[in-house]
Amino acid sequence: MALSSARPVLIAGGGPVGVIAALALARQGIAVHVFEAAERVNDAPRAATTHAATLEMLDELGLVEDVIRRGLVEPLFRTWDRATGKLVAEFDFGRLNNDTRYPFAVQCEQHKLAGMAIARLRDFPHATVEFSARVTEVRQTSDAVEISVETAAGTRGVTGAYLIGADGGRSTVRKALGIEFEGYTHPERFLILTTPFDIGTKFPGCTRNYLSDPQDWCALFKVSGDDGKGLWRVLSSTRLEQSEAELFDDEAVEQRLQKFIPKDGRYAIVHRNLYNVHQRVAESFRQGRVFLAGDAAHVNNPLGGLGLNFGIHDAVELAGLLGRVLRREAPEDILDAYDRHRRPLNIEFVQQQTVANKKRMEEKDPAARAKNFEQLAATAADPAAHRAYLLRASLLDSVRKRAAAA
Ligand SMILES: Cc1cc2nc3c(=O)[nH]c(=O)nc-3n(C[C@H](O)[C@H](O)[C@H](O)COP(=O)(O)OP(=O)(O)OC[C@H]3O[C@@H](n4cnc5c(N)ncnc54)[C@H](O)[C@@H]3O)c2cc1C
Repeated sequence: MALSSARPVLIAGGGPVGVIAALALARQGIAVHVFEAAERVNDAPRAATTHAATLEMLDELGLVEDVIRRGLVEPLFRTWDRATGKLVAEFDFGRLNNDTRYPFAVQCEQHKLAGMAIARLRDFPHATVEFSARVTEVRQTSDAVEISVETAAGTRGVTGAYLIGADGGRSTVRKALGIEFEGYTHPERFLILTTPFDIGTKFPGCTRNYLSDPQDWCALFKVSGDDGKGLWRVLSSTRLEQSEAELFDDEAVEQRLQKFIPKDGRYAIVHRNLYNVHQRVAESFRQGRVFLAGDAAHVNNPLGGLGLNFGIHDAVELAGLLGRVLRREAPEDILDAYDRHRRPLNIEFVQQQTVANKKRMEEKDPAARAKNFEQLAATAADPAAHRAYLLRASLLDSVRKRAAAA
């Protein structure tokens, strides 16, 4: 397609959102250049849960089979009362079998997804992914955007038609544009401990478990791991005054895991990771020829597994809009739709939901806690309410709302 010889779309950040945006553009014949500051794809344990709405998009991009093959298919998730060990509610995405081709979640680590997209990009001569290349400055005119890129060989200027800032929560692009990141940071950090111990022996039949508790809640997820043998992640909350050294200490880690999932013998640990937790949305997702996508535009707590899913939806929507404009099928005004729709959708479907999920996990007031459990159990027990809950949890509702607005 002739478009590939035009000025490229520049993408700051080769995380999963940046490379999915690149793939969605490259498949339309649009020249793309991704600049990634790091030497390689970051394989720290972050997103894994990939929901139905996203699987449908990954299908369009030709990635879904690989995601399913390299991940774990899980239709269920369960909420437990940790104090009593009682199951509060079980939800089954299988109930969405008339709503989606993918009535389940797939636990596929985000570094695998990014790696798959980068491998596909190699098939397109008009797509470049450059590692060890940090975007440091952004300038724009009415018909072009220019960035400064810092590499081992020095700093150079690169000109493109548009720029997508997919450079994560601390986005240089967002800061360069002076766009506020509105919201708040939770006064705690989340610790993820990853173990090869099969926690499934203690929680059989479901690889996504939320253990609610007023003091010490935790979430237990299985991922397939790089060798496909399976690893479990245990996510819990820590106080800000607890240092990394204190939290990563072998004895502290052992005690924490034994408290949540008692077992004979010590735990083997393959990763210890600590994350700040935010609820923030950029005041605007667009300024002229520059767009924000993924964590650069919005960050949220990971309960519910929604952040990256929504970021992939940003990437796919933006690539579609840019494609129409670059092919001259539509006027540039259609690009306004990106900020107009995606920002409120993020607030409604990601911020509100993740805040509610976190509250439910940690509610301290006994009466409110009992009421939460009652409501969740009633939702799970009622077929219509169960389905409605899952349409929201899988982001299918957000995609439908967006489609209805178009
Ligand atoms: C513990 C945890 C669990 C999570 N679980 C889930 C889940 O199950 N499901 C879900 O949907 N989401 C989940 N998330 C959220 C998910 O990890 C993020 O939403 C996702 O990483 C966002 O992808 P991104 O590509 O926008 O940003 P990132 O993954 O942060 O990638 C940004 C990239 O930009 C690069 N970069 C930064 N600055 C520059 C620059 N100036 N120039 C060039 N490159 C730059 C960085 O090196 C990085 O590679 C989780 C998050 C955490 C912390």
